[in-house]
Amino acid sequence: ANHNVNVQTPWYLPQPATFNNQPDIAVIGGGIASLFTALSLLNRGAKVTLYCEDEQPALNASGNKQGAFYPQLSDDDLCNIRFYIHAFAYAHQRLHWAIKQRIEFEHEFCGVALCAYDDKSSLKLKKIFSYQWPTNLYRQLNQTELSQSVGLPLPCGGGFIPQGGWLAPRQFVQNTFAHLQQSGLIVKTQQKVTALLQTDKGWRLTNQQGEIFNHDIVVLANGHKLNQFPQTERLPLYPVRGQVSQIPTSENLVKLKSVLCYDGYLTPANQAKTSHCIGASHVRDSEDRRFSDQEQQENQLKIRRNLAMDWTKEIDTTGNQALIGIRSAVRDRIPMVGNVPNFVQQVEDYKNLFNLRRRKQSIKNAVNFDNLYLVAALGSRGLTSAPLLGETLASLIYNEPLPISEDIIHCLSANRSWIRKLLKGTPVK
Ligand SMILES: Cc1cc2nc3c(=O)[nH]c(=O)nc-3n(C[C@H](O)[C@H](O)[C@H](O)COP(=O)(O)OP(=O)(O)OC[C@H]3O[C@@H](n4cnc5c(N)ncnc54)[C@H](O)[C@@H]3O)c2cc1C
Repeated sequence: ANHNVNVQTPWYLPQPATFNNQPDIAVIGGGIASLFTALSLLNRGAKVTLYCEDEQPALNASGNKQGAFYPQLSDDDLCNIRFYIHAFAYAHQRLHWAIKQRIEFEHEFCGVALCAYDDKSSLKLKKIFSYQWPTNLYRQLNQTELSQSVGLPLPCGGGFIPQGGWLAPRQFVQNTFAHLQQSGLIVKTQQKVTALLQTDKGWRLTNQQGEIFNHDIVVLANGHKLNQFPQTERLPLYPVRGQVSQIPTSENLVKLKSVLCYDGYLTPANQAKTSHCIGASHVRDSEDRRFSDQEQQENQLKIRRNLAMDWTKEIDTTGNQALIGIRSAVRDRIPMVGNVPNFVQQVEDYKNLFNLRRRKQSIKNAVNFDNLYLVAALGSRGLTSAPLLGETLASLIYNEPLPISEDIIHCLSANRSWIRKLLKGTPVK
């Protein structure tokens, strides 16, 4: 029986996989989303093969030297905020698991400071404060307190997330994949999957070299390229290019004790106390991975504009050190996890959804592609969301109770944007 049956919302019904004994699962990816999905599947005894198009994992969005680790607490939708709070708490435990396994990765749970640098940001932070979260999650600090927390003078107060921090995503993802290989993960690099074909036994993958591989179950966790298959092309995902700059440390910058967020972010010095990361640009609908002079300068100008303290003059991006990655995003700002919905079938089955509900008529369960799953749209917070997304997906595949509340599961469903329209009686084409 499906543990997750809810007759109230059959259009969001999460559907487990079918398999005998040990499932043979292909995960397409190489970034942090695929990493945590593979981990949660291996923990349940699955046979897992990773297909990664690059020579190594973590060469795209998950390829940065330092990334900020903290929940998105500012959102008009409380469901999104609740998701990130759960995800953050869970990610903490996963990172501590990795530390215990002696997986090497630079990190510091040094806190994340959110600056109220203008009216708009100060309003946002006041709104976060109004929820009265426990102080170990969020604190409101005045100018003196916030300056003390970050170790450098600031022109404003703001918020502080004491359990946040930073980690080295590329090092973390690559070393954790190496660790998982010791527990049986098969990693296939330079294997771009170009086609997915459903067979009577599962799925047949074709790679760029024209080779064919069969698996019982497929998980798509391939970042901004996820909607490049016919089965996923109608998902409302879009790419957002980002350039993060690496800068040398300096007399004052080295004093930075926590991650500093304004209309951008600056990390404390790396472990060697030589450099920082400052970022990042957001260029919607761009998949261009070339270095941009303009974005490099913007990364430096933003902090000077927002904070205008003397020490910000020490920020020097002219060495032109940077990493460029492509995020995958959706309009409603939280990831997608679960079944890959069959767009054509759902739009047909639910074209009268509004009236069917009004007349209290029976409504079909959502039609999805059997044994095909996704983890998508991690946006700008993948380091925080990936562990819980991976665990949720593995729970679903294995027909276990899901580790997130049901209303949040609905918010994470890949068909949500079509369903919201259909529920209102708006056609989806
Ligand atoms: C500049 C920048 C700064 C960021 N800063 C932060 C931050 O401070 N904190 C934070 O939490 N997040 C940050 N993010 C966002 C975060 O990095 C992403 O949310 C996260 O890395 C997404 O992980 P992913 O696994 O979904 O995608 P990716 O890391 O992009 O991985 C996708 C993988 O899929 C593989 N692939 C794609 N197509 C195929 C195919 N057809 N066949 C086989 N393999 C394929 C690629 O090789 C790649 O390895 C930042 C992103 C950028 C770009």
